[in-house]
Amino acid sequence: MADQWAKHVIRRKSLTVTLSTSARAHGWNKTLGRALDEMNRTLKDRVELTFSVAEKPINAHIVIDTMQSDELHGKARTQYAKDGGKTWIDSVTVLIPAAPRIYPNDPKSRAAGDGVRLYLLVHELIHSIGPTVHTPGDVFSAKVSLIPGKTAADDTVQFDAQHKSMPPIFFDGATIKKIQEAWPTIK
Ligand SMILES: [Zn+2]
Repeated sequence: MADQWAKHVIRRKSLTVTLSTSARAHGWNKTLGRALDEMNRTLKDRVELTFSVAEKPINAHIVIDTMQSDELHGKARTQYAKDGGKTWIDSVTVLIPAAPRIYPNDPKSRAAGDGVRLYLLVHELIHSIGPTVHTPGDVFSAKVSLIPGKTAADDTVQFDAQHKSMPPIFFDGATIKKIQEAWPTIK
């Protein structure tokens, strides 16, 4: 199952993203650039969709905002519109933990590294295309464990011991298929 953007949005082959003031203040700007590169590289030749930063924030399809949370998972809140008897995605607000830590339950633990933030954001960008059902193992896993590195730059996340840790971020074929179903090629 997947939600779907309105056909006129899919036809334009693009989704635009902006950061809230709070997300910017918590340093998510850097992660956003990497996450959009990651998405665009992965979608190239597979899905007719390119992500970009919105020139005018007010017009963005997707707003990245923060929440106070100890979990290693964001939330994609979808606003729907009705048209032609069907319900379509109209806009998405992605809520990410403001400042993820390596031991979420220990408020004194250090900030998690960029790789952890990248996993969190790429995961939610996939949701924002429409897929709602997770893929165990890859970046679209519902739950991962954080493996703290010597320094924040070495932090990784992993679904389980049978799967590679991330980064580098990887997409299972099943996740690509979910994205293709949510964002079909419209002639
Ligand atoms: Zn999820």
